[in-house]
Amino acid sequence: MNEINKYMNHILIVDDDLGIVTALKEFLYLSGYYVSVALSGEEAIKILKKQDVTVVITDILMPGMDGLELTDIIKKDFKACVIVMTAFCEDYNYVDVISKGASDFIFKPIRFDELLLRLKRVLNEIQQDKTQLKMIRTLKRLAITDGLTGLYNSRHFYEQLKKEIDRTKRYRHALSLLLLDIDHFKNYNDSYGHLEGDRVLVILCETIIKSLRKMDTAYRYGGEEFTVILPETSRKEAFVVAERIRESLKSTNFEPVSGVSCKITISIGITEYILEEDSSVLVKRADEAMYRSKENGRNTISVL
Ligand code: GH3
Ligand code: MG
Ligand code: MG
Repeated sequence: MNEINKYMNHILIVDDDLGIVTALKEFLYLSGYYVSVALSGEEAIKILKKQDVTVVITDILMPGMDGLELTDIIKKDFKACVIVMTAFCEDYNYVDVISKGASDFIFKPIRFDELLLRLKRVLNEIQQDKTQLKMIRTLKRLAITDGLTGLYNSRHFYEQLKKEIDRTKRYRHALSLLLLDIDHFKNYNDSYGHLEGDRVLVILCETIIKSLRKMDTAYRYGGEEFTVILPETSRKEAFVVAERIRESLKSTNFEPVSGVSCKITISIGITEYILEEDSSVLVKRADEAMYRSKENGRNTISVL
């Protein structure tokens, strides 16, 4: 039985010599790999198009498409790594093969233990590349995320705002911005401690996310300040979203101490992008709108 599962490495052997193909297939199968075979480069391409192959082990001299051509195509169109097999007397050298993008090179007659070692080394490199890629992705995500709330941070906010402004200029859509600030948050921290304050930030962020539409994105702009970018949205439509956040927060009870129930309110500023203005001008106006809400007694929404 040679059934593939998603954790198995799939090895494809390509050689016009049926004896070699059969022996290698048996050996690699017994070594724990899922193995496919092809008797020509053309047949190999058909398999590569249909299945996920991890490593191709190919002969160089074959009628029709030779091993170097096959390597060239694999490196351009597929993800698989390549190990090339060649007889000592053949007119190819290590440089020809590696410059086509092959990962390794082995002489015929094949010593099975040597092939297995080379295959394992190539698979190891693939694994290392995957781990590195995962690490880079994680680092990139961490660099734009706020650790406490999981929201995007202010650095990402400015990057995204600039992108949205560019889109707005190109397509002449509306673009709105919300700036939210917790009311009297210092008092809450002073009364119940910083950790309880942190819990409020997390719950508030969940409340914001719940109230947004698919295309809106929320950011932790500063300590207890949040921003929301609303693409293709007028200030009137943004008001509806802001009101939804405020209403949702109104129905949320916070219990910093057992038996004590508190409400948290926020002041919100809304503004809409005016063509050709700079992102900093837009943010400043949202900030001014938010301060107007503070002046008007907090727990309100102001539009500028
Ligand atoms: P206002 O209604 O005018 O906004 O009053 P406020 O007390 O919210 O405003 P102020 O700017 O005086 O205080 C902001 C407070 O937010 C100060 C700080 O204790 C709190 N804060 C900022 N970042 C964090 C945080 O990460 N965690 C916690 N727990 N508190 C924070
Ligand atoms: Mg503040
Ligand atoms: Mg505040």
